[in-house]
Amino acid sequence: MRLDGRQAVITGGGSGIGRAIALRLASEGASVAIVDINEASASAVATEIEKAGGTARAYVLDVADADAAVEVMKQVAEDLGGIGILVNNAGITRDNLLIRMSPDDWDLVLKINLKGTFNCTRAAARIMMAGRWGRVINISSVIGQIGNIGQASYGASKAGIVALTKTTARELASRGITANAIAPGFIETPMTEKLSEKVRDGLNSMLIIKRFGKPEDIANLVAFLASDEADYITAQTINVDGGMAS
Ligand code: NAP
Repeated sequence: MRLDGRQAVITGGGSGIGRAIALRLASEGASVAIVDINEASASAVATEIEKAGGTARAYVLDVADADAAVEVMKQVAEDLGGIGILVNNAGITRDNLLIRMSPDDWDLVLKINLKGTFNCTRAAARIMMAGRWGRVINISSVIGQIGNIGQASYGASKAGIVALTKTTARELASRGITANAIAPGFIETPMTEKLSEKVRDGLNSMLIIKRFGKPEDIANLVAFLASDEADYITAQTINVDGGMAS
């Protein structure tokens, strides 16, 4: 129970990697806020945690909405007694080749993935600062490091998250807050299940460990970074990618 007494917010916590993170942090003793644009999936994960004996609440938020992010973080702090851990996980793809990518799709991906991370960090940081302890954990991607055909907007948003993480770490360190990013490779979630067998085979051939990862592989690292054991780790991007970007 490394996270006993901590309060954790997980954006996009209703599905895939975010769901696995929420379940894991709750199992380590944290009270968790499942924040998602999808009310039904957020509530389902909160119910799953409560049934297992944990503490969880569901909140609806479009992370692209800065004002709503402030309101939701305030509400979470009131309900759970503060915010110690923020996992910026909500993210989308709108893939297309660069020359076919519409400016609107570009804007949407940047608005949710990168600005959404900024909005939630800005809103939660004020609350964390008051508690003089905090963990900001941002979910980036290997695609932000190596690029990918069809993923100009997604890769740019995920590279931006790395730079945002480093600034967050520098600005908040004096208040006992660390900020780190995780760069997953390809993980089995609803986001990747639409890939064809042919594409999957091609991707697997790029990996040292020749299979996709599981959401729990990311949750394991989040739990460690959120714990006191990771006190001296900040401004880092750690890959969980089966060796893909090495
Ligand atoms: P997922 O299964 O699609 O889950 C994402 C969750 O975020 C969904 O519940 C989604 O709701 C929610 N969401 C979407 N837009 C939102 C918004 N504007 N505000 C709040 N919540 C929103 O995706 P995943 O594969 O678990 O990915 C989670 C994170 O890991 C993302 O940041 C992704 O980029 C990153 N990542 C994933 C992989 C991978 O291989 N899966 C690899 C590297 C990085 P809806 O379902 O209603 O849209």
